[in-house]
Order: sequence, then structure tokens, then C-alpha cells
Amino acid sequence: MSNKDGKILILPGDGIGPEVNKALLRLINSVNNHTFYNLDIEEGLIGGASYDKFKLPITDKVLEKANNADAVILGSVGGPKYDSLPFNLKPERGLLKLRKELDLYANIRPAKAFNALKEASSLKSEIIKGMDIIVLRELTGGIYFGEPRGIEDLDDGQRRGINTEVYTTNEIVRLAKVGFEIAMERKGLVHSVEKANVMESGILWREEVKKLHETKFSNITLLNMYADNCAMQLVKNPSQFDVIITGNLFGDILSDISAELTGSLGMLPSASLGDKINDRRKSLYEPVHGSAPDIAGKNIANPIAMIMSFSMMLEHSFYDQTTSKVIEKSVENVLENGFRTKDICQDDTKEVSTSDMGELICEEFKSLSKNI
Ligand code: NAD
Repeated sequence: MSNKDGKILILPGDGIGPEVNKALLRLINSVNNHTFYNLDIEEGLIGGASYDKFKLPITDKVLEKANNADAVILGSVGGPKYDSLPFNLKPERGLLKLRKELDLYANIRPAKAFNALKEASSLKSEIIKGMDIIVLRELTGGIYFGEPRGIEDLDDGQRRGINTEVYTTNEIVRLAKVGFEIAMERKGLVHSVEKANVMESGILWREEVKKLHETKFSNITLLNMYADNCAMQLVKNPSQFDVIITGNLFGDILSDISAELTGSLGMLPSASLGDKINDRRKSLYEPVHGSAPDIAGKNIANPIAMIMSFSMMLEHSFYDQTTSKVIEKSVENVLENGFRTKDICQDDTKEVSTSDMGELICEEFKSLSKNI
């Protein structure tokens, strides 16, 4: 294969962010040395780290770099040191500003059961066996952003809280399109999830997804499911799902349920995607976990979520499933060989540090990448 150039912006952030980032940098170095990639890395500040230097949770310069990069990857932001800052200077505002700037409307949260960790799930191992789900959540619309919203005083002395669930054709169609495209590279099954039985926005969602399916993606199997049933089915029989597409509120809840099925926060990656223009897509990759102040600085954090976020980057920003799968397989093999960071360690496994886990995955990658 010909060389693949790419410009990546890395924002390590706060707490364990810089620690898991070190493990990632080592892997990117291996990817550059042992495959056809030539990835150019630039680092920037976000969150508390940015506030400490610039008194802002993200600077315009970093936003500009993010706009010009082929992909952005972030560690985590936040920590008790910044809790008393005014709302608009809090570390999390930097992340929200970045997501908004890049107009990232499609949030992908995979939940895959690693065989070696099947005992870590809250469900019986035979139920999660073979589970490999993508929850695709609409991220910039729906009830979290809809107007009118607010809390108002009523004449009789009561108060009323208001939020509005609202979706337009465009918002539904662009999200569903990403879902069908992802399903095409997987098992070819999409569950579209809403509450069309009680919500007009759900009726519109169902109609627009159906229309898009009939006109452009009829080779994919489309099933409709109500959100409450979906929550139940996820804990009853998660293996029935391939790709779930849903709005912001239901996606928030369903992606947390599916995440919990895998058993560990330190293992979960995510991707947020914007529009694809000339094959180039605005994108941000980040672990689902936060800055974990309770374990920061101890070299015990699990770097796998960060590494798997990079694997997602190769798949969704560089359209390369092969190298992405080799990274996933490297992680799987290291776990199968019994190595674990503290958070996922069990009696019969060997505890290793953040940096050792990164090194083990790198070594495995070097050996498996001979087949790329
Ligand atoms: P958290 O995810 O940071 O930690 C929750 C628990 O999981 C902690 O016990 C932590 O030690 C453990 N944990 C998390 N990631 C781990 C890893 N990779 N390896 C091993 N253990 C891990 O959530 P929290 O404690 O609610 O939040 C801490 C800070 O992070 C807060 O300031 C919060 O606002 C911020 N936060 C940031 C993000 C983000 O950057 N996207 C997401 C969530 C929370």
C-alpha cells in the first residue's frame, strides 16, 4: 500500500490524560515505523492545562489547529483544582467549545465484549458473549438544545421546568446516513430507536430514516425499536444488535448501558464525527472516562480506552479497517496473555503499570503488523 500521510492534533488534557497519552505516543511511533503511515503529531493544551497557562480552557490557536488537522484525539479534562472556576472557564467548557467548533453531530460509542474480560461485566458471561455493538448518538440536537427551555414561575406559586425535544429532517438524515455507512462495513443491521408511540419527533425520526433506507441503503436491514424496549433488550440479549442509531437523550442513556455491559470504564473509546467533505471528515476521538484525579500521577491508569480511540481514528478518519483491527487484536492478545492494569486486574492475572501496558501493546502490534 502507498504511504499514508496524516496530521493529528493530540490534546492530552488533565489528570490521567497525559499518562495514557504517553502510551498512545509510543504506539503511534510503532505505527509510523512498522506500517505505511507517516503521521505528523502536534500537541496542544486543553482544559485545566490550558487554563493554567492561558487562563482559558481552550485557545483560538488550538481551535484553529483542530480545524486544520485530519483528526483530533483528546485524553481527558477536569479535576478538583478547577472546581471553583466560573462556569465559562471550567475545563469541560474547552471540550464543549471544541465539539461545537468542529460541528461534531455523530457520537460513536462501541461496546465490545473482550473474551478475556467477560467476568468483569455485570451480566452473566454467556449473555455478553459475542457482543459487539455500536451506539450512534445524535450529539448536537434534540432535547438538550431545543427551545423553549428554562424554569418559569407560575401564577399559583408553582414553578415549571421546560425542555423541548426537536429534530429536523436534516439532523435525522445526516446521522442515519453515518449509521447505515458504519453498518455496511459490519453486519449490515441497523436498529433505529425512538419513541414514535408517544412523541411526534419520534414519528418524524422513523419516517425520515425509513425514506433514507428505501432510497439509498436498502441492502442494510433496518429494524425500528422503542427506546424503552431497546434498554431492556440490551441487558436481555445484547448480541442481537449491530448498530443502534438514536437521538441525543436516548443515546446518552443507551450508550451508558451498553458501556457498562463491557465492565470497565478504562476500556471504552469513542468518536465524534462531523460532515465528510471531499473524503475528509471533522473528527474527535476520546476515551469515555474522565481525568480520574483519584489515580492521576501514579502510573496505574488503563491506557486501553485511549489506544482504542486511536484505533477508531484509523477506521473512521483514515478509512483503514486493517490497521485498526491489528491494534484491536494486539490489545486482545495482551489481555489474553493475562496482563492487566489495576482497574481490571483479577486473582489469576498479572498487574502492570500504564507504561508497561502501553509497551506490551506496542510489542504485540510490532509482531502482528508484519501481516499488514
Ligand atoms: P472518571 O471517569 O474520571 O473516574 C471514575 C472512576 O473510574 C474513578 O475511580 C477512576 O479512577 C476510574 N477510572 C477512570 N478512567 C480510568 C482508567 N483509564 N483507568 C483506570 N481507572 C479509571 O469520572 P469522575 O471521577 O466522575 O470525574 C473526574 C473528572 O473528570 C471530573 O472533573 C469530571 O468533570 C471529568 N470528566 C471528564 C470527561 C472528559 O474529559 N471527557 C469525562 C468525564 C468526566
